This record gives sequence, C-alpha cells and structure tokens, in this order.
Amino acid sequence: METKTPETFADLKLSGITQRALAKLGYETPSPIQAKVIPWALEGYDVIGQARTGTGKTASFAIPILEQLDPIRLSPLPQAIVLVPTRELAAQVHGEFVKLAFGCPTEILEVAGGKHMTRQLKALEKGTQIVVGTPGRVIDHIQRGSLKLNNIWCVVLDEADRMLDIGFRPDIERILRRCPENRQTLLLSATLDGDVQKLAQRYLFEPVHVDCSQKGVTVDTIEQRYLNVSPERKFEILVQLLTRELPPQTIIFCRTKLGTAKLHNQLQRAIQSVPGLSKMRLDTIHGNMNQTQRDSVFKSLRNGDIQILVATDVVGRGIDVTTVSHIINYDLPDDCDDYVHRVGRTGRMGRDGIAFSFVARGQGDLLTEIEQRINRQLVPDPLAQDLGPGGARRIAPVTVIASSNGESSVDDPVAGDDENASPKKRRLNPMRRTISDRSKR
Ligand code: AMP
Repeated sequence: METKTPETFADLKLSGITQRALAKLGYETPSPIQAKVIPWALEGYDVIGQARTGTGKTASFAIPILEQLDPIRLSPLPQAIVLVPTRELAAQVHGEFVKLAFGCPTEILEVAGGKHMTRQLKALEKGTQIVVGTPGRVIDHIQRGSLKLNNIWCVVLDEADRMLDIGFRPDIERILRRCPENRQTLLLSATLDGDVQKLAQRYLFEPVHVDCSQKGVTVDTIEQRYLNVSPERKFEILVQLLTRELPPQTIIFCRTKLGTAKLHNQLQRAIQSVPGLSKMRLDTIHGNMNQTQRDSVFKSLRNGDIQILVATDVVGRGIDVTTVSHIINYDLPDDCDDYVHRVGRTGRMGRDGIAFSFVARGQGDLLTEIEQRINRQLVPDPLAQDLGPGGARRIAPVTVIASSNGESSVDDPVAGDDENASPKKRRLNPMRRTISDRSKR
C-alpha cells in the first residue's frame, strides 16, 4: 500500500458523498491521525491509533466505517460497533457520525446507560447499521438478546486506556468474544501502557501502529500559567482574571460537586455588577445532575449559548467543544492526569488556548508533579503573586527532559525497512470490505 501521508481529503479517495459532508462541516484538510489511520482502515487492517481527544480521532474511524457500510436493506443487523468509556463521549461520537453521514441515510444508534432503554430496544428491533455505546449498556442489550453482533465487521475501542482505567476490561472482552473473529478492530488510545498493549495483543490481528501522540502530554498551542492565591482571595482574583481576559468561552474547574455548585451561585451574583462580564451566560455541570440536564448544558456550550461553565472533573472529561478558549483550575486537581484532561479541553484541533491554575500555599509539590508530568514549566501570571517568595512555589526546579515538538510519527511495521514486513506479505483481514454502494456515489 502507498505509505505517503495524504495531505487532502481528496488524496484519501473518499466517495463524493463523504467529501460533500466534510465540506459542509468545514473540514478542509485531514488531521494527522485522520491522514494516517483512514488509508489503513479502508484497506481492512487492524489499527492501533495513538492520539488524544481533540485531534480529530473520531472521524479517523467514522469515515472508513461510513465509506464501507452496506445499505440497511441488505444488512439490518449492526455492522460496526464503537465502544466508548462515557455517556458524554457516546453522545459526541454519535453526533460526529451523524454529521459525517450527511447526505446518505444511515442508521446510527447511541446505546449508552442513562438513556431510554425502550427507545433503544425499539431502534435495535427496527435495525441499525452502527452502534455507539458504553460497554455496560452494550452487555445489557446482548444479554436481553436485543443486540446481535453476528454481522459486525468493524469494532472500534475508543479511548481504550480510559475504558480499562474505569474497569471495563471484562465487559470489553465479553463483547469482543461475541463479535466475528475475522472482523476488523480499530483501537484508539492516548496512552499505550501494558494493559492496552495486552488487550491489543489478544484481540487485534497484526495491527498497524499509528502514533500521533504529542511528545509532551498537553498540546503546544496551550499557554499554561499559574497564580499563587490564598483561599481568602481566591474568588476576588477569579473575578479579576475574568474581567481582564473577557474569555470568549471558559471552563472553570472545581474539585467537588458542592464547591462547583457554590462557585456557580457566587459567580452568578458577582458578575451582574461587573461591566464586560454582566452579559456573559453562566452554567454549571456536575455529577449530581441527570443525563438530560448534562446533555442540555453540553448542547448550550457547543452552540455558544454559555460563555462560562463551572464544572467538576468527572463530567469535564467528556467535553468536546472546539471553541473553549480558557481553562481555569480554580481548585488544582490532586491527580496529574486530571490536569492534562482539564487543560486538554482547550487548544483543540490546533487552536490557541490558555490555562490558568490557582495554586494555594502548600501545593507547590503538586504543581511540580504536574510540571514533571507535562514536561513543561508553568509560567507565573502577574495578576496574583500574593503569597510572595517561598509561598506555594515549587521546592525543586523541574528538569525538562525533552521539548514538546508536537511531531507525530508512524511506527508502522509494514512501512519500515524490514522487508519481511512488506505490506504485500501482510495477511489482510479476511473480512475486508469491498467498496460499498455509498463509496461509488
Ligand atoms: P475529536 O478528536 O474526534 O474529538 O475531534 C475534535 C474536534 O475536531 C471535533 O469538534 C471535530 O468536529 C473537529 N474535527 C475533526 N476533524 C476535523 C478536521 N479534519 N478539520 C477540522 N475540524 C475537525
């Protein structure tokens, strides 16, 4: 197979209908993960794609699936199943499929917990081509006999590392064992630690490894600053920061549900009297809200109806909105991974973003840990240095091991020097699709 990376969607030789959907969405060029995954996936190979959320990874598997779908009249049972860790991500992936399928009637069903079971049962009975779901609810449907996997030719494990972190391994394995053996499997993951590799070794067939992980953990386009803030002045500094920045769209992260609700109320009152902020619309999202409430907040954020969102980590992880310009860590997270996830909500698809972290006295070590994790030093914001020297600042300076150049690479056994790994010698997935009706359009 040609290994030159395609630079345009036309180079990917996609059907006219998909190209029109992409043009309607305003996607002009494939993102690195799309340019690297799509050609292999269209050829029927199993792929391990290493990329984080916000890089366009959803379309990297959605496009090849849509290109190869059989019409529903020929195949009423699901042909592709996408497993994702959270309900929020299920909604986003479903939404992206719907947008990419524009112009070609396609049945795509979201099968996530917290959503109406009856509606899902009816839709499955009627027939669907693609299922996007969380492992728990998928298992539920398999057990009821409402979801049959006999016709699945493509399985996607999206954010595989997070699914394993949450403890979905047994469910994922049960689902994979139910799918035909000669299917195609695409695994997307931000990290490829031992657990993900074990899963890949067990269930993927001679996968191509596409590495689009950033060398650093957070993307280069995000400016990251910290502010030393004492608890008494935290709120006042927050209002000053918002007044100075007048962010087009910002997410403010708190640690607890209670703290989130409290800050939301406090801020709601305070901004009324601040010129520039008084017109901003504010909302909150946390674990005490039901799915319908959360979905409505996500929708408003996506539509730009909300400028300030006060959120907790749990739900914050699933937010995929390309317009978020600012992240404010009002409470520093205890876990470095949460920092990475929070900050990753901005600077999506290469856009600029800025993140501010409020650091309290005694949190210097935590800040240092974060800096080591992202391999980069946060710079002080001049607004709040109220603790002065020796306050919360790091104790030991951070050693930056390598600079984050953001380059991606393809660690592809078939493209390497090893002649034994020639693509011609690779046994193609036996269930490799032929060009579908859709692709001819
Ligand atoms: P994802 O990593 O799949 O969550 O995608 C992040 C965001 O980028 C989503 O809002 C997509 O709609 C958007 N997106 C995906 N591919 C492209 C592209 N090729 N050009 C512009 N935006 C894109």
